[in-house]
Amino acid sequence: MTRKITILGATGSIGSSTLDLVERSPDRFEVVAVTAASNVEALADIARRTGARLAVIADQAKLGALEERLAGTACRAAAGDEALKEAAADDAELVIAAIVGCAGLGPVMAAVEAGKTVALANKEALVTAGDLMIRAAARSGATILPVDSEHNAIFQCLAGNRKDDVSRIILTASGGPFRTAPAESLASVSPQQAVAHPNWSMGAKISVDSATLMNKGLELIEAHYLFGLPSERIDIVIHPQSTVHSLVEFVDGSVLAQLGAPDMRIPIAYALAWPERLETPAERLDLAALGRLDFEAPDVVRFPALRIAREAMEAGGAAPVVLNAANEVAVDNFLKRRIRFPDIAETVERALGESDCAAPASIADVLQIDRTTRARAEASMSEVCP
Ligand code: NAD
Ligand code: MG
Repeated sequence: MTRKITILGATGSIGSSTLDLVERSPDRFEVVAVTAASNVEALADIARRTGARLAVIADQAKLGALEERLAGTACRAAAGDEALKEAAADDAELVIAAIVGCAGLGPVMAAVEAGKTVALANKEALVTAGDLMIRAAARSGATILPVDSEHNAIFQCLAGNRKDDVSRIILTASGGPFRTAPAESLASVSPQQAVAHPNWSMGAKISVDSATLMNKGLELIEAHYLFGLPSERIDIVIHPQSTVHSLVEFVDGSVLAQLGAPDMRIPIAYALAWPERLETPAERLDLAALGRLDFEAPDVVRFPALRIAREAMEAGGAAPVVLNAANEVAVDNFLKRRIRFPDIAETVERALGESDCAAPASIADVLQIDRTTRARAEASMSEVCP
């Protein structure tokens, strides 16, 4: 039976890996809607290739260009935030949430409220609105399937087990490109060095997050909401080979892990076919060739983002929203060479210290805190780099 799917963020790294899998199994999937931020050429090409019925570009100014490129097809063009939400709640049964950043929150919530199965890569949506999203899913009957490799690994290890029997989960982190870099060298690293991840090929924002370890901080919060565990039952260990994608420890002392090549097509395939499995062209593990798997404790002095994120998670309320918004602004400014690498974590910590936002009670509140924090963080950055 074919499964109808919608891909939010179809032009990105996760979007492309999803399309690669879907195009290898054309009889299993039917793409109904695809979206992108502003690249109309790439979006129109994807819509034509997949036969999607709806293509949404976030940038309203690009609607005319998208319509032109889709002329002669049965695909309708639309633009803007409301259209993104419409695509998310359209008639697909499975929505791949692969927009980057808090920008994905509205569409992800629309899919959750419509009771869809949501394959969630967009961790920032869960970090900023975890409680609201989990409650909305319980109301609508939506299923959230984690695509983030660590959370997907944990999800796989939990299958067939009782949640009450879990004693803790252990997220693995590669350590990023600066794992062994001396502290004093971090002030002069370039955006190019930061995005050159040793094991994974990903979008620019998450690559910088992996270098600061903020990615693992966001994943800690993501795990807290997805699996309903408190801070003290979520550990992080550095594992440079990115082969063990994460682990679950049970009350009897058993530890289950999921292993595989560092290829996002594996967790994406799991979400696409769940509860079945889908063949992928991912490289097979050759343990003898690998020889060894290493583990070490994370260094929260060189990588303070991990400590800051854990504190924000424990504080709750508006703190995870502020953490995420300040980080998005700081990463963007780092990529534009306006601030240095260590300024990213500093910006986030300052934003958390200065925030007076009340806990959000709705998605509108979350988006308001996001906007306020962004404006403040941008202003504080122009003081640092006028
Ligand atoms: P990317 O930058 O490669 O792609 C992002 C996609 O979102 C693009 O299609 C872009 O057009 C769209 N987009 C960006 N801003 C938008 C906006 N304002 N409105 C609407 N659409 C917008 O990013 P990616 O690496 O594919 O990551 C996507 C998400 O998946 C992120 O949340 C990331 O943390 C998560 N994730 C990615 C990987 C990976 O391997 N790439 C792994 C785990 C989790
Ligand atoms: Mg991850």
